Amino acid sequence: MRLFFAIWPPAPVALSLARLADTLAQRFGGRATRRETIHLTLAFLGDVEEEQLPAVLDVAREVTAKSFEMTFDRLGFWRHNRLIWAGGASVPPELQTLVVALRERLLAASLPCDASQSFVPHLTLVRKVGDSHPVLPQLSSMNWACDRFVLVRSQLGAGGAGYAIVAEFPLA
Ligand code: ATP
Ligand code: MG
Repeated sequence: MRLFFAIWPPAPVALSLARLADTLAQRFGGRATRRETIHLTLAFLGDVEEEQLPAVLDVAREVTAKSFEMTFDRLGFWRHNRLIWAGGASVPPELQTLVVALRERLLAASLPCDASQSFVPHLTLVRKVGDSHPVLPQLSSMNWACDRFVLVRSQLGAGGAGYAIVAEFPLA
């Protein structure tokens, strides 16, 4: 099964981001992320055998991180993968700590984790953007209190990945 750890935005935040994603996809071309799939990836494991699932859950339970306030106040575009995303001007230290702890513990438990890229917290809004130089609008700042993270199973499909939340883990 294909697994990753993520933070899921509360419903009102996901709704307004999904509306923004639709507008951006209409303007610049590409596939808007649906309301129910908007997320912030913390650590990507990729393919994991079913028997390894208990070890993955143990890793997440052992991570003790504090809750934090997330602020999204800017839009970005990555040319290499043609993504438009929402991000924050600064990374909350608790979020950085959570990501480092997850990645380190996964690797220490001999579980897979792609740590090849440094962590840039982002919510993907549009994939396969058509315009190569999209002039992005200002993002009016939005906040939410992150008090949990989730383990997610991804099922790749023609219309984009479908996600199922496997388990939730509270942040202190
Ligand atoms: P699709 O691949 O169909 O566009 P997706 O990227 O949302 O959909 P997955 O490929 O299963 O679905 O990825 C799940 C999450 O993990 C996404 O947020 C994705 O950006 C992230 N991700 C995927 N591969 C990696 C990787 N090698 N390293 C870090 N994060 C990754
Ligand atoms: Mg992918």
